[in-house]
Amino acid sequence: MKPEERLAQWIGESRNIVFFGGAGTSTESGIPDFRSAAGLYRQEEQLPYPPEVMLSRTFFMEHPDVFFDFYRSKMLHPDAEPNGCHRLLAGLEKEGRLQAVITQNIDGLHQKAGSSRVLELHGSVHRNYCMKCARFYSLEEVMTAEDAVPRCQHDGAIIKPDVVLYEEELNQETLYDSVEAISRADLLIIGGTSLTVQPAASLVTYFRGARTVLMNADPTPYDAKANLLITDPIGQVMERVAVILSAGQA
Ligand code: NAD
Repeated sequence: MKPEERLAQWIGESRNIVFFGGAGTSTESGIPDFRSAAGLYRQEEQLPYPPEVMLSRTFFMEHPDVFFDFYRSKMLHPDAEPNGCHRLLAGLEKEGRLQAVITQNIDGLHQKAGSSRVLELHGSVHRNYCMKCARFYSLEEVMTAEDAVPRCQHDGAIIKPDVVLYEEELNQETLYDSVEAISRADLLIIGGTSLTVQPAASLVTYFRGARTVLMNADPTPYDAKANLLITDPIGQVMERVAVILSAGQA
């Protein structure tokens, strides 16, 4: 049996699927990840500082102009469209088979595909707040702001994207909901993540079900624990899974 046929079979037999994903789920939508050969971490020579430094709270506070230059040019992809992975997960939620998508991504592509139960561990580029009065600003307002650093129209304070920077804590409620969803799941599909960014990556250890599927192009620390390992591009694999599932329903 081909891996995608096995995955389709397991999806068909599950009622409580949870997907845990990372940047690799969006590379086929044109958004680079951090650690692949084409990832942002490999482009360091063109950057003034390493990405982990520029994406830290300290750096944001001390050099907001450099932060926003990097953030706007490398982290924002407003025209990106969902791929086969995002689309299949949204469809499984509508069928009542998938309980939650837990993502380390900040790009909003799961929601764009139609998913509604998305736990965003690292926040979202689509939410931005004034650091003083907490007024909301859209992604477009941050992108089109004339100054190097976007500022609140009302009090002039910096507008901070609602993304979790290095040195910042994850939202406790999102973490709690993620643990609960994973520990209740009967099928855990992990996709497009190097499983190296903590504490997000350790969430997968709360899984108590029988079947773990790991879909990642490069090896991860969790490979030995997976019941099914798939290294082909996740968007293409999920498209094939969707075809198998719909043929089965016909
Ligand atoms: P990562 O870059 O550490 O790992 C991505 C993994 O995905 C790699 O191991 C790579 O082999 C795999 N991969 C890439 N393309 C793939 C594909 N098409 N099919 C299968 N596997 C593929 O990413 P991470 O584990 O998510 O951690 C990095 C951090 O970067 C996260 O905190 C995330 O918030 C942030 N980030 C987010 C985005 C986004 O929102 N799209 C983009 C870049 C970074």
